[in-house]
Amino acid sequence: TGGSLDAKNLKVKLVLLGDSGVGKSCIVLRFVRGQFDPTSKVTVGASFLSQTIALQDSTTVKFEIWDTAGQERYAALAPLYYRGAAVAVIVYDLTSPESFTKAQYWVKELQKHGSPDIVMALVGNKADLLDRREVPAQEGMEYAEKNGMFYIETSAKTADNINQLFEEIAKRLPRPES
Ligand code: GDP
Ligand code: MG
Repeated sequence: TGGSLDAKNLKVKLVLLGDSGVGKSCIVLRFVRGQFDPTSKVTVGASFLSQTIALQDSTTVKFEIWDTAGQERYAALAPLYYRGAAVAVIVYDLTSPESFTKAQYWVKELQKHGSPDIVMALVGNKADLLDRREVPAQEGMEYAEKNGMFYIETSAKTADNINQLFEEIAKRLPRPES
């Protein structure tokens, strides 16, 4: 699944899923470029971005990150998009209950059609807007636990937990036998 180089250096396909506007593209740009631009209409789009991280055990993980060009707005994303993905990052906006409902739809979709050994993360983004929170952390956490995912709250705006998100994913990846 997702392609790997060898036991010490993994290469994995990572897809982002979630409602339009929850901050998927901003999470990617924060992680890959260290930037947050609230005004730009970010469309990573057709091509993907990649970023390599080194873990403490001196292994590396190269993420090939697929972001949508906004197709999530119109219809069910083609299974082509997540085919072969080793990782799915499912994002909602913790100020938007609708986006949390949509995230659950994506989880079910991936459970039905994704790779059986896919690593899934549930991300409550916009954690800098705590005074506008509408989805309690407990709800996200419980849903994630029930579905064998890990849960994290992030802010692409402040960079809070962005690197941690990808590090946690890297640690959970199945390792090929060396
Ligand atoms: P996408 O449609 O899921 O890719 O969402 P975008 O990355 O394009 O972000 C949608 C809007 O949410 C933009 O106006 C961003 O500036 C804003 N946004 C994204 N992440 C955050 C965040 O962590 N905090 C806040 N306050 N706004 C965010
Ligand atoms: Mg986007």
